[in-house]
Amino acid sequence: MRRSAALVGQVLTEMARRVEPGALTSEMNRVAEEMIADAGARPAFKGYRIARNDMPFPAALCVSVNDVVVHGFPSEEPLKEGDIVSIDCGVELDGYFGDYAYTFAVGEISAEKAALLRDTKQSLYEGIRNGLHGRRIGDIGHAVQSYCEARGYGVVRDLVGHGVGKRLHEDPQVPNVGRRGVGKKLKAGMTLCVEPMITGGTSDIVVDADGWTVRTADGSPAAHYEHMILINRGEPTVLSSFDSIESVLAEKGAFIPSAETVLAET
Ligand code: MG
Ligand code: MG
Repeated sequence: MRRSAALVGQVLTEMARRVEPGALTSEMNRVAEEMIADAGARPAFKGYRIARNDMPFPAALCVSVNDVVVHGFPSEEPLKEGDIVSIDCGVELDGYFGDYAYTFAVGEISAEKAALLRDTKQSLYEGIRNGLHGRRIGDIGHAVQSYCEARGYGVVRDLVGHGVGKRLHEDPQVPNVGRRGVGKKLKAGMTLCVEPMITGGTSDIVVDADGWTVRTADGSPAAHYEHMILINRGEPTVLSSFDSIESVLAEKGAFIPSAETVLAET
């Protein structure tokens, strides 16, 4: 799983180089598919099927711009200055899945969008900090929810994090809302994807006619950060890493949402 996570990290780092005004996300997806194939892996999202939708997901990357929360398609429409874009990548390598996501600023973004990115990323770490042996799934959701709602954001309920391992989506579900001490007990050895999906408005979402693209109902922008964590007896291990992504952003002079991670990423 560390190797799967590392491959996702390589793909997201290459995407960090490419995110700029005018970039085509369809081309970024093409590059991602090539990198995944060259590594001897398989894109986990391409061909993925969900109930009540005849169309399997068409790409290796979920590319979600502005009011798209998650599951957007790569497109021929160029990224524009001021956009925010969540790029989510999943791979299967030697039978194990990696799945994580980062939301990027395209050029200069508004102060509101910058705050949304920072606060969403911070809420991810607030959730992760609660990923401790003996605690409950609701402790993670409660931490994300209370952090975000205190700042006036909407926390999407209809989509959740998940267990990950030999399958892309395993039990348990990891909601971004919850009550302390409620839900499945966390145990050392569990591997989870924690992925807050946070909006600048309400928590309501709508799905496009394609059955995939999830948008905010009120048109407000949405952000999405995802890490893969391993539950331990002590603090959780973060199997994924934003480090190389953010080194590229720093080299480019691009916006980096600051967050107090506390946990050492490995
Ligand atoms: Mg996920
Ligand atoms: Mg993901």
